[in-house]
Amino acid sequence: MAAKAKAKATATKKTKAKKRSSSSARQSAVDSQFRNFTPYQPKKSEQYMNDAQLAHFRDILNNWRRELMEEVDRTVHHMQDEAANFPDPADRATQEEEFSIELRTRDRERKLIKKIDQTIDRLDQEDYGYCDTCGIEIGLRRLEARPTATQCVDCKSLDEIKERQIHG
Ligand SMILES: [Zn+2]
Repeated sequence: MAAKAKAKATATKKTKAKKRSSSSARQSAVDSQFRNFTPYQPKKSEQYMNDAQLAHFRDILNNWRRELMEEVDRTVHHMQDEAANFPDPADRATQEEEFSIELRTRDRERKLIKKIDQTIDRLDQEDYGYCDTCGIEIGLRRLEARPTATQCVDCKSLDEIKERQIHG
């Protein structure tokens, strides 16, 4: 009860804080997992990667792709706006550093968009959701966490171990 009353009292403050954090923390769709969907609940006898499941993942991939595209646009516009605002060379040096970070992010976004496109191609061919290495079902929960996954958890970790042995 007391907590409820307190929550009510601070409600106005909270709205302000929320507003601030949402404008400053522009989290990239590249870094964050795409979570803007309702997890799929399969029926007991449901076949893996039936039409409904394929449609579910197609939605996730398309929405994720659109979000990334919007982000790329925002970055480009942001850089164009900023470039005009700093005629001073000293300011521009700092700014170029910021730009190179933004460009790297954009590069990662582009690569991810390409990967999403390849994944959508696989969906079209109904070749989605199975491990490239061993052929087993990757599984709905893993695919929802990593919609572009092409390997099951076991094969992926095995590859990562091999990778570390070669490079590290
Ligand atoms: Zn596998």
